[in-house]
Amino acid sequence: MSQKAETIQKDSAYSVPVAARPEFVLARGEGVTLYDTDGKAYTDWVAGIAVNALGYGDAELKAAVSAQMDTGLLHVSGLYHTQAMPELAQLLCDNSFADKAYFCNSGAEAIEGALKFARKRAYVNGDVNKTKVVSFSEGFHGRTMGALAITPKEKYQQPFKPMVPGAIVGEFNNVESAKEVIDADTVAVVVEPIQGEGGIHVATAEFLAALRQLCDAHGAALIFDEIQCGLGRTGDLWAHSFAGVSPDIMALAKPLAGGLPVGAILTSDAIASAMSPGDHGSTFSGGAVVMRAAKVVVNRVLSDGFLEHVAEVGEYLMERLSELNSPHITDVRGRGLMAGIELKIPPASVVNAGYEHGLLLVSSGSNVIRFVPPLIIGKAEVDELIDKLTAILEGIDDDS
Ligand SMILES: *Cc1c(COP(=O)(O)O)cnc(C)c1O
Repeated sequence: MSQKAETIQKDSAYSVPVAARPEFVLARGEGVTLYDTDGKAYTDWVAGIAVNALGYGDAELKAAVSAQMDTGLLHVSGLYHTQAMPELAQLLCDNSFADKAYFCNSGAEAIEGALKFARKRAYVNGDVNKTKVVSFSEGFHGRTMGALAITPKEKYQQPFKPMVPGAIVGEFNNVESAKEVIDADTVAVVVEPIQGEGGIHVATAEFLAALRQLCDAHGAALIFDEIQCGLGRTGDLWAHSFAGVSPDIMALAKPLAGGLPVGAILTSDAIASAMSPGDHGSTFSGGAVVMRAAKVVVNRVLSDGFLEHVAEVGEYLMERLSELNSPHITDVRGRGLMAGIELKIPPASVVNAGYEHGLLLVSSGSNVIRFVPPLIIGKAEVDELIDKLTAILEGIDDDS
């Protein structure tokens, strides 16, 4: 049996079957290209689900991780000081609305922590009934029980009911709906400034501003989930910047450590000051290797010309996607390097054809192909994508 066949067979024999993977095995990456064990190249429009912001094989990222490994110190837990964690916290606070940061290990964990922070502030204030959490249609906040409860998708929730109580769903981008669901019992309002998993839906500035006003009026914490859309992906550092409003808490994760697992909760002093030692924690929180990697990523995103590059290539991508002019496409939307095309045909047909053409693509929602590549991708790769998508879409019949 070939090594590739052996890997695929072992996966099916021993892995809990929660994922359907294509029939190749990825072995290495360079820049924005991944190679499988047969040496076939794939231009990566997925980036490990909007994670690998600096692509593959970034020299500085590699040096930072190796240097930390060389100290022998990978993990000491949150019981002790290490250097990089407060440096990263300062870097994120200096460049956002936030006064304080907390680090964890994933997006879902950042959302869970954010909900606890909001709950703790209400508790300290003696607001015992303030426990409702508002989220919005098509939103996605993670798979753990608290995050799942505010991810209003029947397919994800149904087998795991009962859900954590208190979750209320409003309609995304509908101010009237938000007014109906946010009230004095609302402890937190959670929203993605651009919905990723739900199908690349961009929040309007009016909607985000209305949420800010409603949260202020009712003493609720406004939580922006920028786990997918934040940290440079839109061409702004933060996806909410364009709207001119700030949250009380922001959750980050996916791209933050360039591919290592991490999550972050950024927050105001008003909320952070309600938290005391022992209120929250995680064994792996703020690990030295991950923090050093994240510093490289954040500094790079902040470096001269980086965000301009994302904005420029993002605009070019939107422009070229809009020109595709295929009868299968019903909408093109997004911002920066977070784009989606809505299709009349099953996205899986396009994703699967992409593999044959040496493209990694991923769907989102029920009928969207989303493009969330490494942020270092260039116009040449956009041209390649458009040529290949044109061929793929022409090769698919209407009734497929
Ligand atoms: C991926 C994602 C999450 C969950 O992150 P995990 O690291 O998979 O737990 C939460 N919110 C948004 C917007 C995401 O894209």
